[in-house]
Amino acid sequence: MYKVKEAGHAACLECGDPIEYGRSDKKFCCEACKNRWHNREASSSRKFRQKVSSSLEKNYFILDSVRRTTLKTILVSDLETMGFRPGYFTSYSKGRNAEVFMCYDLKYVVRNGSVISISKVSFASSREPLTDCTD
Ligand SMILES: [Zn+2]
Repeated sequence: MYKVKEAGHAACLECGDPIEYGRSDKKFCCEACKNRWHNREASSSRKFRQKVSSSLEKNYFILDSVRRTTLKTILVSDLETMGFRPGYFTSYSKGRNAEVFMCYDLKYVVRNGSVISISKVSFASSREPLTDCTD
């Protein structure tokens, strides 16, 4: 079958065939094309979320292992050598002279390219803000 978009006819997003009938905003020629397209989109979105998730998990593992050492500070670049990816965190706030990041329940403070503290926080209750945890 020719996959030529005719003037006045929209082309199916999945196979490119002209859409012969239906509403003018119809995007697919048939249910099968519609399902194939949506399944692929969902799968690509899922893969993306899995990638973000595993980057966060890896960061968490690295931060937690550093937290358990006696190190007082560590260069972000040293963390990166360990596989840490600074672009992945779960929340961020900018303080007066430092940046405060969260990776799940780990709070880390970055100043002048160094992580100057890593601490674990806990939810005292779901309605209260995060508080530092002494463990
Ligand atoms: Zn189609």
